[in-house]
Amino acid sequence: MLCLGIESTAHTFGCGIVSFDGKILANAKDSFTSASGGMIPSEVAKHHEQAKEKVLQDALTKAKISIKDISLISYSAAPGLAPCLLVGLKFAQKLAKEHKLPLVGVNHSVSHLAIGDLVCGAKDPIYLYVSGPNTQVVGFAGGRYRVFGETLDVGLGNMLDKFAREVGLGFPGGPKIEQLATGKYVELPYSVKGMDVSFAGMLTKALKLFKQGIAKEDLCFSLQETAFSMLAEVAERALAHTDKKELLLIGGVAANKRLGEMLRIMCNERGATFHAVPLEYSGDQGVMIAWQGVLQAGEKLSPETADIRPYERIDEVNVTWR
Ligand code: AMP
Ligand code: MG
Repeated sequence: MLCLGIESTAHTFGCGIVSFDGKILANAKDSFTSASGGMIPSEVAKHHEQAKEKVLQDALTKAKISIKDISLISYSAAPGLAPCLLVGLKFAQKLAKEHKLPLVGVNHSVSHLAIGDLVCGAKDPIYLYVSGPNTQVVGFAGGRYRVFGETLDVGLGNMLDKFAREVGLGFPGGPKIEQLATGKYVELPYSVKGMDVSFAGMLTKALKLFKQGIAKEDLCFSLQETAFSMLAEVAERALAHTDKKELLLIGGVAANKRLGEMLRIMCNERGATFHAVPLEYSGDQGVMIAWQGVLQAGEKLSPETADIRPYERIDEVNVTWR
């Protein structure tokens, strides 16, 4: 049995195909990028409209199957940019009607956790979830995913993207900042409150220093060192308080080597196991949506009742599969 997953919450339109026993057959995607600006939801939705048929065909070709071999369609119902979510929903509804297939609408954030568990073999980790809009320290406790700590303002990826945009590096900014992080340290606000973090002050200060002529290389290096140290601190605090023995790094910013290095050192020092989701599955893609669909295969929707939930949080999801 195979599940097709459709991802469309933000910059990426993706189609993934997985078997019900967790074999990944295809991961096809097309991501919106921009040389100078950021993400305008209506423009990104237009990108997804234009990309969807080709991405689906790519996935089917990679998996060497036809749509007739699919048993279930899963789409990202939450959370995300409404115009983008709607493109995925409508595409999923159309395919479900045409091929008489059941639909499942899943939470994108939860699916980042689930694909991490699947590909890394993690059992019961603390998750450090760092994507564009999200920065959360999450763990499973008492039947739900609990958010132990999170950003009090902007998400880590969005902070990096915003800095990059303002200094002319384009979108996405995280990878550019990583490449340019070769300078020396300048002090930026280090802001940890319990297990919560805040990045807005650091961003404001870095932009101010940029206008004063401090080199991009120094600022990129300092943003990474400061923000990642804050995350290592709160991740360690969550491990200590929950007595969990594994840390799993997930979300688009998990691609960053320096972040992985810092967290690995912290885990080694306290005898915990560190997992980072491989690059292919760290950013947004359809595979995680497909796998989450398999986990929630019992929660089928008809195309008429399928909907989107742009603001649903990870701790609001009713976890039926763990
Ligand atoms: P997601 O929303 O999970 O797809 O993650 C996208 C975010 O990850 C964007 O904000 C990117 O700038 C960020 N990102 C991707 N690669 C890197 C990297 N190597 N270093 C830092 N941030 C990154
Ligand atoms: Mg994401």
